[in-house]
Parts: sequence; C-alpha cells; structure tokens
Amino acid sequence: MEKVDCIIVGGGLAGLSAAYGLASEGLEVMVIERGDYSGAKNVTGGRLYLSPIRDIYPELWESAPFERPVVRELVTLMGDGADTTIELASQKFATPPHQSYTVLRARLDQWLADQVMEKGGMVITKNRVDELLLENGKVIGIRAGEDDIGADVTIIAEGVLGLLSSKAGLRSEPRPEDHAVGFKEIVELPPAVIQDRWHLNDGEGAAHLFMGSVTRGMLGGGFIYTNKDSISLGIVVGMEHLRRDGEKMDSWKLLDAFKEMPQIQPLIAGGTTVEYSAHAIYEGGIAKVPKLYGDGYLLVGDTAGLSLNALVTVRGMDFAIASGYYAARTVLDARQRGDFSAAGLAQYEQSLRSSFVLKDLETAREIPHTIENPRLFTHYPQAVSRLMQDVFTIGPQPAKKLSSVVIGGVRKDFLNLTTFKELLGMRKI
Ligand SMILES: Cc1cc2nc3c(=O)[nH]c(=O)nc-3n(C[C@H](O)[C@H](O)[C@H](O)COP(=O)(O)OP(=O)(O)OC[C@H]3O[C@@H](n4cnc5c(N)ncnc54)[C@H](O)[C@@H]3O)c2cc1C
Repeated sequence: MEKVDCIIVGGGLAGLSAAYGLASEGLEVMVIERGDYSGAKNVTGGRLYLSPIRDIYPELWESAPFERPVVRELVTLMGDGADTTIELASQKFATPPHQSYTVLRARLDQWLADQVMEKGGMVITKNRVDELLLENGKVIGIRAGEDDIGADVTIIAEGVLGLLSSKAGLRSEPRPEDHAVGFKEIVELPPAVIQDRWHLNDGEGAAHLFMGSVTRGMLGGGFIYTNKDSISLGIVVGMEHLRRDGEKMDSWKLLDAFKEMPQIQPLIAGGTTVEYSAHAIYEGGIAKVPKLYGDGYLLVGDTAGLSLNALVTVRGMDFAIASGYYAARTVLDARQRGDFSAAGLAQYEQSLRSSFVLKDLETAREIPHTIENPRLFTHYPQAVSRLMQDVFTIGPQPAKKLSSVVIGGVRKDFLNLTTFKELLGMRKI
C-alpha cells in the first residue's frame, strides 16, 4: 500500500490549516477533498473572527482574500408588524487590526489550498474518501475508490456530519437535535450600493443578524454579511424545531419568505443571486464534543464539534483553523517520538483545552440549552418591538407620560415569573 506521513480527509479550513502546518515543516501530507476545488462545497455565514487566530500562522493573514472588516454590528428583533434594530458602529472595530472579516469560502479555501501546495503539500480534489482503514482499532489510512493509501496518522476534517468517522466508530452518529440547517444565497450588488445601505465607509463591512418572526418561532435566525461586491444572505433553523414545527412550511421556503419581507426587500433590491447553498451546522456545544484523538487519528473542525452559535456571534471557522494548527503541532511532536498511538497524540486535546478553542466552548456550555427556549424567538422580539412602537406613537389619543408608557410595557411583558426565571437562567450563559 502506498504510504505518506499524513492523510487529511477534507480540504476545508480545518484540514487545510493542518496541512499547512505539516507541509511547512516538510512532512509528506496529502489532503483529499471531494469537491471540484477546496471551498466548492463549503458553506459559512460568514464572518471569520481573526482576533483569536491572528498569531496562528501570522504570515498568512496579510494576504488572505478577506472581503470586508466588520465595523458595524446590527441585530434586528422581528416582532409581528414591528422590528427593533440595535446597531453598533464601533470605532474600535473600525481601527486595525480588525477583529473580524466577512469571507467567501470559495475564495478563502482555494487560496489556503494554494498556500498548502506552495509549501509542498498535496491537495487532491474531486476525490472522495469512502472509508477509513482500521487495523486492530488503529486508523492506518484511507480507501478512496480503488485506492488504499496508508499514513502514520490521519487527520479527519470531513466537516459537520462526520459520516466517515461515525461509520468507523470514532464518534457517534449525527443527531438532528444537535444540528441546525442553513440556507444561503450570495446576491451581487455594487460596492457603493452596499455601503449606502449599511452606512459604511469605502471598504468597511457590516454583519446584520435577524431574530424572531423570521423563523416563525423556531430556533434560529437570519443573517446578512456584506462582502466586497455581494452580500451573503441566509437563514438558519434548528433541525429538531423544523421536524416539530416545520410542517407549517417547507424549510427551504423560509429563505424565500425572508427575502420577500418588506423590511428585507429594500436591502436586496436590484441584486442578482449568483450562488445558492444549504448546509448543516453543529450546535451541540462542548457537552457533545466527541473524543478528539485515538490510535492513528485526530478529529478537527466541525467533525470534532468545534462550533458555537451564541445568537449574536456565530463561530466555527476560527475553531477550525486553530484545531488544524494544534493537530499539526501534535503530529510533529508525535513524529519526533515515533509514537502515533492514542497516548502519543493525547497532547492535541491538552493543547485545545489550554487554547481559546475549548475554553470558549466551555464558557458557552449552557448556551445550546438556553437558546432552545422558543420565547427567545417569539415573546421577546415581539415585546421589545411593541414597547418601542408605543414609545414612538403619537395620537390620536392624548399622549401619556413617557415613563408610564415604558413602565406599562415593562410591567405587561417583562414583570412576571416566567421572565424572571428565564433571566435567572440567562445568568449561566
Ligand atoms: C449557514 C452557516 C453559517 C455559518 N456562519 C458562520 C460564521 O459566520 N462564522 C463562523 O466562524 N462559522 C460559521 N459557520 C460554521 C463554519 O462554516 C464551520 O464551522 C466551518 O466551515 C468548519 O470548517 P471545517 O473545515 O471543519 O468543515 P468544512 O468547511 O465543512 O470542510 C469539510 C470538507 O471536507 C470535505 N469532505 C467531506 N467528506 C469528505 C469525504 N468523504 N472525502 C473527501 N472530502 C470530504 C468537504 O467537501 C469539505 O470541503 C456557519 C456554518 C453554516 C452552515
């Protein structure tokens, strides 16, 4: 059987990050990617938080094909008939070094694949890994079509559903309750139009999230990220909620309904849809993170459950790149010792535990459970928007004192036992 130092299954950000780290140190590394090119099949919202990973491969980020630095954050709470938008225009975010950038995966992943190849790594596209090869419980390589290829160590970066790794018994089968599904379009618009619509200076970007009636009470939300000459627009809904409540509407139609909302139409008017995609997102949190390593293998990125939906921040790409980096460091050390057993690779989990990856996921441990509450997507957006609407309403009745409008609204919608209990629960997140 042909053999290389390391095989990487999947050429997304996690796999390519690992490959870059290994190829840079001269290892013979082979990335096998089923898509026509890296990024062809990959979906994100998307905004990459660069701050956590800026010191990982620092030489890369100056030339990375980012779209726009995010300097404006908008969250729209959609009630029935009234929306409230909170908008943060931050000088801090507008000043370099920027904490986050919008990205297009078709560009970013291809570029990273090029960097891997420049370092001497192999990125083989249009090839699907069909099976992980095991011998006495140790992963010894992969099968792709008729080819068996062996490796000292295999890094599994196959993305969110982890079909190969669960089939091989390295992690559990994916469960709907731990996942959401996202539908997304890329809509082309001239840069000047994007800047006008989101009040941006030349080259700056915005992240605009939507919660409430957009998902008809189901867990999830809508998003718009501004790219250079397009916007990424989409909707994410919890799979279990879709199964339970989705009969109200075919899930994929939610995106069309979102685009047809009178609040959204002016934002996308004149745009041309150039790409459509749908993809699963892992939302199980740290409690469901599988065993991250074993004899001859490491799990990275989404395959390892490293993503986090904290309602106003969505992360996965920074975790993917960081986990790829720590996997590469682990393999390099294991190689020096000549030990690719589970014990020899255990350092990987320790590195993730002492990095922001598992620390941030640990901090967010209660979030998956807390955001299960449907009132976050019904009662609260409606109550806030109702209150704001009352504050801004004049006539035909004589005006009430502002304080009694506010106190009346708060008393009606927020001063009750349910809200109090929910607020107490919120302290955990
Ligand atoms: C709608 C949506 C919105 C999101 N928004 C954000 C956001 O704004 N910010 C953020 O940081 N994260 C976001 N995420 C999460 C983020 O996109 C993921 O965490 C990230 O892409 C994980 O990278 P990965 O390399 O682990 O997996 P992927 O990018 O999925 O890469 C896996 C790769 O493996 C390949 N592959 C799979 N099986 C095989 C096989 N058998 N053989 C060969 N190749 C195979 C696939 O083709 C793919 O290229 C979002 C996700 C979705 C779906």
